[in-house]
Amino acid sequence: MKRMTTILMTSTLVTALSAAVLSLTMYSRPQQRALLIQILIVLSMAGLVLFATFSYRRRRLAAAMGEGWKISEKGKQNPCTFSDVAANEQALHSLSELRDYLKCPDKYVRYGARMPRGVLLYGPPGTGKTLLARALAGEAGVPFFALSGSDFVEKYVGVGASRVRALFRKARKAGRCVIFIDEIDAMGKRRDDNVSDERDQTLNALLSEMSGFYTGDGVIVIAATNRIEALDPALLRPGRFDRQIEVGLPGRAQRLSILKLHSQGKPLNADVSLEELAAQTVSFSGASLENLLNEAALAAAERDDGGIDRRDLQQAFYRTIAGADREIIASERERNIIAVHESGHAVASRLLAPQNRLARVSILPAGHGAAGYNLCIPEERVMVEKRHMENQIQVLLAGRAAEQLVFGNEALTAGASSDLARATELAATMVMELGMYDDPAVSLKALGHLCGTGIGGAEACRALLGEMYTRVSKLLAAHIGAIDALASALLRAESLEGDAAGRIIDDHLSIERPESA
Ligand code: ADP
Ligand code: ZN
Ligand code: MG
Repeated sequence: MKRMTTILMTSTLVTALSAAVLSLTMYSRPQQRALLIQILIVLSMAGLVLFATFSYRRRRLAAAMGEGWKISEKGKQNPCTFSDVAANEQALHSLSELRDYLKCPDKYVRYGARMPRGVLLYGPPGTGKTLLARALAGEAGVPFFALSGSDFVEKYVGVGASRVRALFRKARKAGRCVIFIDEIDAMGKRRDDNVSDERDQTLNALLSEMSGFYTGDGVIVIAATNRIEALDPALLRPGRFDRQIEVGLPGRAQRLSILKLHSQGKPLNADVSLEELAAQTVSFSGASLENLLNEAALAAAERDDGGIDRRDLQQAFYRTIAGADREIIASERERNIIAVHESGHAVASRLLAPQNRLARVSILPAGHGAAGYNLCIPEERVMVEKRHMENQIQVLLAGRAAEQLVFGNEALTAGASSDLARATELAATMVMELGMYDDPAVSLKALGHLCGTGIGGAEACRALLGEMYTRVSKLLAAHIGAIDALASALLRAESLEGDAAGRIIDDHLSIERPESA
């Protein structure tokens, strides 16, 4: 079962179209053109010209191998250790065994133990994979050689492979060390479809270098990727990256410990509650938490009254998730529609999913072309029941439903496009993967794959979405007073904290409330 803990932002798109600007850079190659002319005119000098071309290409190749490519050796200047990593207990535990090995590989030789040659850290960006690898080197007091997988991918055949060999040569000279290859998916993609010669050679070079180590060398290769599913399975075989460590997004308690770690040395005022901030930051990575605290510190430094206060953190929070609040550019009528649309989401969410705390309703632009947004912080739970998913679909459809209720059919806007897409995706998951309608024991998706029959289920999805839309429209019609009240408050304030919005909604609900989740 998927974890449904992503922060829910329902947004209104002002513009359905975004223009992509394509810029073409033309390279003229005076040298080559000059050579061409010479070949044409002075045929007798062909041999000399060929020689010139050859040496020109060789220079280019040499330049490509040297420039813009550096093995960075860190760890000596600013060593970092396991105490710089908060949360991630499991990963730290796995790595602490490797630290002992790096410190004293001979011991492991004496006992005939074989250490893993390669460790793969996988998980979303910003979760501390690079940090963990550096911390391992720092803890063991050995050099840290870092390279990115994309450094190995070059258009000149052979460059990537020779870089791999150069890296390992350098590492061998250093003796015990940690080699870190970031974004290994760039060089280790599945080899089934049209992978270039170059990539193949690079990967083979890496695999053969790795099998050249033995336990006494004290070398550990750590690779990181956000996309373990895209890796060539050859990389994961025994003797290669056979130890795989998941580095996931932090849960609530882990977020608190990351926030505590990064707020060291930052003067927080007494009104700041890191517990509350940790509860609010569902689905934030360690890097985004660190960034949030830094944004708040920057704002406080600019004001310069001695401390970081709650407001700094709240503003940094909204900036991190929604992009900075910008001046509203919508017309009066557009603002009206946006306010009604967002109020629809907010009222439906309050009635159908009160366990998801509404953090903010806004009709200010939020970046990515979104004209307004509802920010909902879902309760963290691993299992999600059918009724929760149905409610979720209704909340997503509520923006469009409110627009239609208040402005009629003719005024439908493009603002609901991403809401509709997400509601449809959710409906499709329920119907085709979770067996929540008709056949409770069948995954239509798996069946379609296995038996080559069409997947089917589209009709059931439409029926489900239609029913959800009818239900939420009825619900909103019954509480139209709350939508009106919230929409006018939004037009005045432009942006409301969830609690304030919740009070306005509660004050204007009709007497009867539906069964809520
Ligand atoms: P990744 O390599 O997984 O993309 P990084 O290691 O580059 O992530 O993390 C970026 C920054 O985020 C780190 O330098 C650190 O400041 C912060 N960070 C991420 N995860 C953690 C964590 N578990 N504990 C402390 N800081 C973290
Ligand atoms: Zn919406
Ligand atoms: Mg990284």
